[in-house]
Amino acid sequence: MTVPSHSPLLLIPGPTPVSQPVLEALSRPTEGHSSLTTAMALRRIQEGLERAVGARPMAEPEGSLVFVLAGSGTMGLEAGIVNLVRPGEKLLVVNHGFFGDRFAAVGRAIGADVVEVSCPWGEQVAPADVARALRESGAQVMTVTHVDTATGVVAPFLEYAKIARELGVLMVLDAVAGAGGMPVGMDAAGIDVVITASQKALGMPPGLALLVVSDRALKVRRKLDGSGSYFLDWLNWEAPMRDPEGHYFATLPTNMVVAGAAALAGAEEEGWEPRFARHRRMARSVRRGLHALGLPVIGAEDILSTTVTAVHVPEGIDAVALRRGVAEEGVSIAGGIGPWSRTAIRIGHMGSAGLPELLQGMAALECALIRIGAPVQHGAGVAALLSSWEEELPA
Ligand code: PMP
Repeated sequence: MTVPSHSPLLLIPGPTPVSQPVLEALSRPTEGHSSLTTAMALRRIQEGLERAVGARPMAEPEGSLVFVLAGSGTMGLEAGIVNLVRPGEKLLVVNHGFFGDRFAAVGRAIGADVVEVSCPWGEQVAPADVARALRESGAQVMTVTHVDTATGVVAPFLEYAKIARELGVLMVLDAVAGAGGMPVGMDAAGIDVVITASQKALGMPPGLALLVVSDRALKVRRKLDGSGSYFLDWLNWEAPMRDPEGHYFATLPTNMVVAGAAALAGAEEEGWEPRFARHRRMARSVRRGLHALGLPVIGAEDILSTTVTAVHVPEGIDAVALRRGVAEEGVSIAGGIGPWSRTAIRIGHMGSAGLPELLQGMAALECALIRIGAPVQHGAGVAALLSSWEEELPA
């Protein structure tokens, strides 16, 4: 079997399109994990990510530590809690969708006594419910999904963080679908661990799990009687993450580290604020286009992320057939997850995507809808997308 030479345009919520400079960095000759090149690239990722999520810099007193690990976002979730919760201890999972379920499953797998506070998909868990659940459970660690990628809904995580601080609870944030495309404000909010993965809004290929761990969380790990994992133990990785030239724990995916550094250099050339604004513009434009095509966006507008949009397809249209039709036009969009697999589609608009990619995606969606008999005007989605793109963003 041969791999097709033309890859589809990725408008799924990860992996996202990877820019040419990042692809070129990926193909540079492989370096050793203790080389100066790797050390510099690792530091570039760590510093870039600190700024992306508003972490206290590693160089400052009580600074955070960024762990760059080979693996996917799910491994990042596991690394986030296995260092803070011992078997039998309570873990509160704030669950507003598919990836809340995932965090609960990871918690159970590491032996935690998982307590969930949930809401229907497409909604947010009320902060008062989180406060009550923390008080009733006595959990000392809670997890929150920043953006649930199944629905596109963002959690009121800053409000949760305030409650966590007041109660002295550690908050672990799954920002896999948001970091790099939306602000997090980790240090200002007092969030203890921020987890992300390379293949989303950071615009790297899949393969790295990235954890920003506050000094407070690291101190909690030091006091615990071990971690439930050897490979994911922060204390095993601490020395090589601080000084890769001088310390080895396990081999890093060095080509990915170099590519990751190139991705962060590109993002910082754009600047985080302009990048977040571009994501707001992409989200608004895509949603206007979808609306013009008669596809209702899931979730109230003021609780939606700027990185991913989920829509229910109209009655009588099979979401899987629609997705296949879009793929025939060379564009990859995502289906709904779980119970929504045949009734919803999702569009990722994050990372290095911009107007050309969104126009191509919207045009492909229109073609596919028209071909399956949906009452759609040629150009309606594209026109709405474009006119929204041109409009000023609210301050
Ligand atoms: N959390 C969120 C919010 C995600 O969107 C994803 C990936 N879609 C994950 C966790 C899991 O990441 P991975 O697929 O890289 O394991």
